[in-house]
Amino acid sequence: MGLLLKISIPLLGLVLAFYFYSAPETFNEEMLRGKRVIVTGASSGIGEQMAYHLARMETHLLLTARTEAKLQKVVERCLELGAASARYVSGSMENTTLPEVVVKEAENSWGGLDMLILNHIGHSHFSFFNGDVGHVRKLMETNFISYVAMTTSALPMLKESEGSIVVVSSVAGKTSSPFVAPYSATKFALDGFFSSLRQEFIIDKVNVSITLCILGYINTESAVRMVSHAIRDTPAPKHECALEIIKSGALRQRELHYPARPVGSLLLLRAIAPDFLDSLIRSNYKVENIRR
Ligand code: NDP
Repeated sequence: MGLLLKISIPLLGLVLAFYFYSAPETFNEEMLRGKRVIVTGASSGIGEQMAYHLARMETHLLLTARTEAKLQKVVERCLELGAASARYVSGSMENTTLPEVVVKEAENSWGGLDMLILNHIGHSHFSFFNGDVGHVRKLMETNFISYVAMTTSALPMLKESEGSIVVVSSVAGKTSSPFVAPYSATKFALDGFFSSLRQEFIIDKVNVSITLCILGYINTESAVRMVSHAIRDTPAPKHECALEIIKSGALRQRELHYPARPVGSLLLLRAIAPDFLDSLIRSNYKVENIRR
């Protein structure tokens, strides 16, 4: 069968599926009650907000990041908000043994795991690439390899529970974004790895969902500090973003695009007019404010 025919038959199916479209399952906070969830990068920003939402939903929480004092406060707040239980493991994901240590803590505490939310990122610069290969290597370890290692360690428990993996990525992991070359590389790597893994799960009938979250500019302290002098956009709220990530994981969606309209348009434009999109992206930066 010719390739064109091979493509056009599923396309026709897709059109019919849309025509007879039935509403997807809707999110209900009950879906998460009592579930056992790991959140990485939970001491601040979107990860911290996810911890608070999940606490309200009465989940069991295991949080991780480097700063113990911050994690202690987040755990306290989670318990006040109604978490079924909350604990933390502090450490850096640059340390190659940490992913296994965190997953082992979940296994020892709960004997299983329902959701793994991979969200942390190491520090990176917002500037022209300065040739620092060591930084790229380190960032790959923190932002990418540790995600793979956490997934590998957690997979037996997730298979058992038919659970979910949620991977927090960025528009910089889908489109060509200047001034974040090392960060962008780590986010593209996540898409490659986890999209491939999703295919293998389907082939092997492994009922573990993988949700890739493609986020635009969000108003976390670190993001605003890093880019507000150089880009023209208004950031979306971290509280809402965190809830959308949790919903997409609970609903076992393939991808989340947040905020939906700008991110969706960006991805559509990338598919049909990539050069035009590149020029739009470039025009969005105040290049005179970028460090060389
Ligand atoms: P933050 O900088 O606010 O939080 C990052 C978290 O990662 C913190 O908890 C931090 O805690 C932890 N962390 C930093 N370094 C390490 C390390 N070496 N090992 C382990 N943990 C570490 O980030 P955001 O909340 O803004 O971003 C969260 C996710 O959302 C990221 O994956 C990011 O790429 C994505 N995203 C964010 C956007 C935004 O505009 N905010 C846009 C697009 C995507 P500590 O310092 O205590 O270790």
